[in-house]
Amino acid sequence: MRKINWKKIKGFIFDLDGVVYRGSKPIKSAVKKINELLKNNYKVAFLTNNSTKSQKEFAKKIIKCGIDINSKFIITTSVATANFVSKKYKKGTNIYVVGSKALKNEIKIKKFKISKKNVKAVVAGLDTNINYKKITEASNILRSGKLLVATNLDKILPNEKGFQPGAGSIIQSIIDATGPKIKKIFVGKPNTYLIKEALKVMKLKKENVVLVGDQLETDILAAKNFKMKSILVETGVPNTSKKIKATLKLKNLRNLLIK
Ligand SMILES: [Mg+2]
Repeated sequence: MRKINWKKIKGFIFDLDGVVYRGSKPIKSAVKKINELLKNNYKVAFLTNNSTKSQKEFAKKIIKCGIDINSKFIITTSVATANFVSKKYKKGTNIYVVGSKALKNEIKIKKFKISKKNVKAVVAGLDTNINYKKITEASNILRSGKLLVATNLDKILPNEKGFQPGAGSIIQSIIDATGPKIKKIFVGKPNTYLIKEALKVMKLKKENVVLVGDQLETDILAAKNFKMKSILVETGVPNTSKKIKATLKLKNLRNLLIK
């Protein structure tokens, strides 16, 4: 896992928050480099642990940053979480959801009923309207042994002003309120569901793709778990892990040289 053999590389998977933009502000070096890659016929997909927008809404945001992209090449945790739930539970099953409108929509698209009663699982993601009542409701259901299907663990999210609480900060309060016997799964990175879905739409194999992210514990660990090459960029969250290492580390994507 020491070097990237550029002759083998046909595509790139980019994380969004802290890689392509910070909040509403595009990261110019990334936008320029991604356009250069597209011009040189590399395949490009995006994946994000952020569950607050639909694929179309993310596409709009990326296009506004200056990158022309089809929404099918954007893999979100909302979509991956709904896919996970639909593989595990029958259509029509009652699911309790703590999360954004986008996450609830994906659950509904898969024909599940969002309810507080006779619930088989709790789905949780970033909810900017989180409150005590929702945490109580979710933890009561989970204490009876039902599964928590969470989008991601990210504690903070970079934005144009600095940082804001990520889904992990909210989900952790549900986990703490439930107690030690909680059954839980995190669908987002560092799990590999998102990467697998991205490779499927890119029609590429993992050995021909590099993952670019700003976070060691999510992006780079996901790539490592999946035995993929990775690039860490320093345009997003601060990293402290000494154990997890990317194949390549760059200050920003301006410094990416393909040779
Ligand atoms: Mg990120």
